[in-house]
Amino acid sequence: MYQFNTVGYVQSPYREKFAIPRQPGLVSSAQGRLILTDDYNRQECIAGLEDFSHIWIQFVFHATAEQGWKPKVRPPRLGGNRKVGIFATRSTFRPNPIGLSVVKLEEILYEDKHWQLVISGLDLLDKTPVLDIKPYIAYSDALTEVSSGFAQEAPQQQMPVNFSPQALKQLDRYHSQYPQLKLLIEQVLAQDPRPAYRQHKDDNKTYGMQLYQLNIRWQVMAQEAVVTAVSDC
Ligand code: SAM
Repeated sequence: MYQFNTVGYVQSPYREKFAIPRQPGLVSSAQGRLILTDDYNRQECIAGLEDFSHIWIQFVFHATAEQGWKPKVRPPRLGGNRKVGIFATRSTFRPNPIGLSVVKLEEILYEDKHWQLVISGLDLLDKTPVLDIKPYIAYSDALTEVSSGFAQEAPQQQMPVNFSPQALKQLDRYHSQYPQLKLLIEQVLAQDPRPAYRQHKDDNKTYGMQLYQLNIRWQVMAQEAVVTAVSDC
């Protein structure tokens, strides 16, 4: 038996699981922070990390950990139809609910008595507990001659995104607090976060997603996402 301590946690614009991109780097405008805590909240632990542009984060899938795991799962990339072995996927429902994401390291700050790594391109839920941080090393981590099974390429089809006049007015109100909010919504919705069986189809549903403390409502019409409202939760 091994026991691990968390070294920190993530502050993320993604406040619920729905609509979080399925891998890091897909939504470059998503910016968050990794806050170091307890014994690890020391400059010594991150000395030299400022020379790296990207880091690996090992984290706990804390929001799904209690749901356990299954030996076979249905990756959304296969339309939710085909099952493959858990170890052939990045599913959150794993024997040890541990995730691994590479993110861009934008800045290192000391604020509110904590060392904080400003990161972007994350695919992590707010409050995600972090187990470890490692520098990304291109010569060994960036492989090109590879075979990536059912996930050969980044999802190609991006859903066009538009805003209703009302949503644009509402966005204006949040501009000074979240200057990147419009881009963040566009990049998140371009991934079509709907369940696999609804993707590439129109439906009559109004969806809601939470970014920061905001509720964003949207629909899909004529294969385009239309944001209809942006308001406080
Ligand atoms: N890049 C990581 C990996 O390969 O281990 C995560 C891939 S996993 C498919 C990405 C999904 O994990 C996101 O879309 C989100 O729904 C979910 N997720 C992110 N943070 C989580 C957390 N703390 N607890 C549970 N699920 C989480």
